[in-house]
Amino acid sequence: MAQKQLSIDRITLSRRNLFASVRLDRLAEYRDDPKWVENAMNSAAARFVPLWRSRSLLANTDEGQLAVYLKPGELEHLDAIQPPTLLGTDGKRYFFALSINDRQQENVLALHPEARFLDLRLASVDMDAKHAGVLAYAKALHYWQYRHLFCGICGHPNRLESSGHKLVCNNEECARQSFPRIDPAIIVLISHGDACLLGRNANWPPKRFSTLAGFVEPGESLEDAVVREVFEEAQVRLSTIRYVSSQPWPFPSSAMCGFFAEAESRECGPTDEMEEVRWLTVSELESAVATDEVRLPPPVSIAFQLIADWYRQQCGRDLEKLVREAGSWLSRKRIE
Ligand SMILES: [Zn+2]
Repeated sequence: MAQKQLSIDRITLSRRNLFASVRLDRLAEYRDDPKWVENAMNSAAARFVPLWRSRSLLANTDEGQLAVYLKPGELEHLDAIQPPTLLGTDGKRYFFALSINDRQQENVLALHPEARFLDLRLASVDMDAKHAGVLAYAKALHYWQYRHLFCGICGHPNRLESSGHKLVCNNEECARQSFPRIDPAIIVLISHGDACLLGRNANWPPKRFSTLAGFVEPGESLEDAVVREVFEEAQVRLSTIRYVSSQPWPFPSSAMCGFFAEAESRECGPTDEMEEVRWLTVSELESAVATDEVRLPPPVSIAFQLIADWYRQQCGRDLEKLVREAGSWLSRKRIE
């Protein structure tokens, strides 16, 4: 049964993960063509994804959180902070990320009284996948641009080039180029026989149990990182590891690489990183969720998808339905 589930190709598997569903043509071939970019930016098809203090513009509707894009003419001085960043096209519109200042933020909210600037990580629980992906892509570039205002070699200011996808040091003698950075992280669902291992970090919200995860260190393969992190976090030794799917996770700049792993045994223990680790069978997991003893991560996360895949392979049922019925995500459904 497990093999049947995994016969889906990796692109399909990864596209189920929120933020990975951006189907934009990124138009990389036009990034260094200022004339083309200017024409696209001034055309009726331009749409701007505003970012104010790293927050995204969303409207709270009956269908959940909807992304709000600005049309040409809705905002003056598009380059008030820095030039807009070309994101790409969905075939109908050209999307640009736009950093706005406090005064522009007030103007935007006056034009869109139904909308608010919200933390994407919280709001995305209830978002359409395509638009969550566009906002995540914009937020990731915005974060990188703001964390690299100055050259890391000589300290002079950097300037944006390639329509927001490259930074170049203003010091002509240095002229160092830098590109968006992503921090790879592994995340892994560990199983042994009919049980899976979930852990609880003391810094997480109350009752939250999830898969194990950690950053890949220099000099490590993704698989090395899985083996090391699992032992560091739960003192579990692994016998096999399989790659499943990946997810962009712009909080602030990770790429999550998801794995299934089988443990050699159920020997495990709490560590400095995890205050509790538990082996749970399907019925134990169902009971723990129903009684609110265990709260799983939100469905937007690859962590939840890995647990849901394991659950489906074990019993054929839908974990998201079970959790929604138990009500543990209700408090997150509407975010003010
Ligand atoms: Zn420099």
